[in-house]
Amino acid sequence: MERAKVLVVEKSKSQRLFIKGALDQEKFDFLEASTGQEAIEAIRNEDVDVVLVSWVLDDMEGLELIGSYQQDDTLLLPFIMLTSHAEESRIMTSLNAGAFDFIQKPAKSLELNARIHGAVKFRQLQRKFLEMAIRDPLTGLFNRRYLQQKMDHMLPSYANNQGTLALAIIDIDFFKKVNDTYGHDVGDVVIQQTGAILSAAVRDNDIVARIGGEEFVVVLPDTEVSQAREIMNRIRSDAEKKSWGDRENPLSITMSCGISEASLAEYNLDKILKLADEGLYYAKQNGRNQVVTPDQLENKLTA
Ligand code: GH3
Ligand code: MG
Ligand code: MG
Repeated sequence: MERAKVLVVEKSKSQRLFIKGALDQEKFDFLEASTGQEAIEAIRNEDVDVVLVSWVLDDMEGLELIGSYQQDDTLLLPFIMLTSHAEESRIMTSLNAGAFDFIQKPAKSLELNARIHGAVKFRQLQRKFLEMAIRDPLTGLFNRRYLQQKMDHMLPSYANNQGTLALAIIDIDFFKKVNDTYGHDVGDVVIQQTGAILSAAVRDNDIVARIGGEEFVVVLPDTEVSQAREIMNRIRSDAEKKSWGDRENPLSITMSCGISEASLAEYNLDKILKLADEGLYYAKQNGRNQVVTPDQLENKLTA
C-alpha cells in the first residue's frame, strides 16, 4: 500500500519533531504546518490523508480548522485532535466539531501510530468508494454522475468567459443485433473496446463517460463544433475499418454521433445533452454511421 501523508499542525517545532520521530516511517510520510493557514495551504496542495492538529494554534483554534472542513462532503478528511488536557469535555467538543479521533500529549508512539492507521484506513476506504461512485465498472470510464458533477463545476466558468466546449454523444449502431448474434459477453467486449477507443483518441483533459448501455459522451473543453466533428469522424471511421471479431466470427461495428456546443445551449448540461441527442437521432434516421452537428439540424429544420 502506498505511504499515507500525515500532516502535523502544531506551533512548537520540537513537538512536531517529536511526532515525526515517533511515526512509523515505512507507512507514513510526514508533512508539517506551524499555523492553521499553513495547514490549509498544505491540504490544498498535497494529497493529505490525515491531519493531526493541536488544540491551540497561533492564528486559529484547532477546532476552527477542523470545523472549516466539515462542509465539503466530497472530502471527509480525518482530523485527529492533539491536546495536553484530556478532560472529557475537550474530547466531546473535538468529536462534536467533527474530529475523527483524539490523542493526549505527549503521545506514545504505539498509540499514535495505531490511531493514525485507523484514520488512514477510513480515508483510503473513502477514496475507494468515491472512485467507485464515479466509475462505470464494465469500462472503467466515468459514469453519468461524474459527468454531471464535473460539468456543474466547469460550465459556470465557460459561461462567464463565453468559452466554447463541445460535447459528443456516441451510440453504437444496431447493437441489439451484436448481442443477439454473438451473445451478451461479446456485446460487453464491444462496449469495453469502444470505451478504450474513445479514451485513446482524445486528449488528457477531455472527459469520456459511459452514460447508458452502448451510449457514450465525450466532452471536449475549448473545442469548437467543427474540430469536434473532425475528431469524432476520425474515431467513427477507425471503428468502421477495425476488425472487431476474429476470423471465424467476423464482426463489424459502426457508430453514430451527435455533437453540440455549450454556447448554443446556454451552458446548461441538460440542454447540451438534448442538442447532441437531436443530432444523434438525426444520424440514426439518416442511415447511421455518421456524425451530425447542430448546423445540419438547422438546415434540416429550414429545408
Ligand atoms: P440503434 O442503431 O438504433 O442504436 O440500434 P440498437 O440496436 O443499438 O438500439 P439500442 O441503442 O436501443 O440498443 C441498445 C442495446 O444495448 C439494448 C440492450 O440490450 C443492450 N445493452 C445495454 N447495456 C448493455 C450491456 O451492458 N452489455 C451488453 N452486452 N448489452 C447491453
Ligand atoms: Mg445503439
Ligand atoms: Mg442506445
